[in-house]
Amino acid sequence: MGLLDGKNALIFGLANERSIAWGITQAFKREGANIGISYAGEMLEKRVRPLAAQVDCKWVEQCDVTKDEDINSTAEKAAKYFGKIDVLVHSIAFAGREELSGPYYNTSREGFKNAMDISVFSFVALAKAFQPMLNPGASLMCLTYYGSVKVAPHYNVMGVAKAALESSTRYLAYDLGPQKVRVNAISAGPIRTLAAAGVGGFRDMYKHFADISPMRENVTIEDVGNAAVFLASDLSARITGEVLYVDSGFNAVGVQLGPETKSE
Ligand code: NAP
Repeated sequence: MGLLDGKNALIFGLANERSIAWGITQAFKREGANIGISYAGEMLEKRVRPLAAQVDCKWVEQCDVTKDEDINSTAEKAAKYFGKIDVLVHSIAFAGREELSGPYYNTSREGFKNAMDISVFSFVALAKAFQPMLNPGASLMCLTYYGSVKVAPHYNVMGVAKAALESSTRYLAYDLGPQKVRVNAISAGPIRTLAAAGVGGFRDMYKHFADISPMRENVTIEDVGNAAVFLASDLSARITGEVLYVDSGFNAVGVQLGPETKSE
């Protein structure tokens, strides 16, 4: 018996086998979900189709979330294929490389709009498009990062976007609660993915994290996948509007000591 037996789960934002979306997809498969996968651009199809085949997923659809017509046609195709949806995962973010280093005040108007559109508005738009086909008890979730609540150098506009995404999570939870649909966010510690590679100083930050997080360990896509199973399953039936940290305890610490002073 899997925790997600019989549930139809759509995952948006699979790029490759390093993607957080892939950790979630594999965990969902293990727990018995019927999976649908959506990816951004044609360039990714070559990578995504073989991954989808590994989890017996036949519903693989391109959806550029900056386009309303893509979102609407993806929702229509999902309704035709699955009927009803129980789980929707938003694992999508984008900001131009030039926005992810240097001072935040250098963010361009266009860069700001783009980051907010792709990384925040898309979650709202997906919630709206899929709302009519969500089963009672359905679970929506998105991926966020601690740079939303504290400064993470270089994260800049993406931190501001994640703050808006977490707030959107709460507003969507309020809107969809009466329909018995839950909306939550997972705040993951740094993981080496394509998106992370665009953040200035990521490599150092990743290493630093393993030195100073309470558990002295980096987070894996498997860890995030398992937390996503909990949020997708009926085990979290009365949890909505929350941000669940999967970060080896990093967010619990207010004053960081260097690794050399840690054990004294
Ligand atoms: P990833 O594998 O690069 O995934 C990001 C995904 O967003 C890609 O599939 C990307 O497709 C997609 N995307 C970008 N623009 C899009 C658009 N217009 N339409 C549809 N999809 C679009 O990196 P990831 O780290 O797994 O990121 C997944 C989520 O986790 C993001 O929300 C990220 O902010 C969050 N997160 C990551 C970390 C971390 O350290 N890695 C930590 C906390 C939270 P393209 O490749 O085609 O652009």
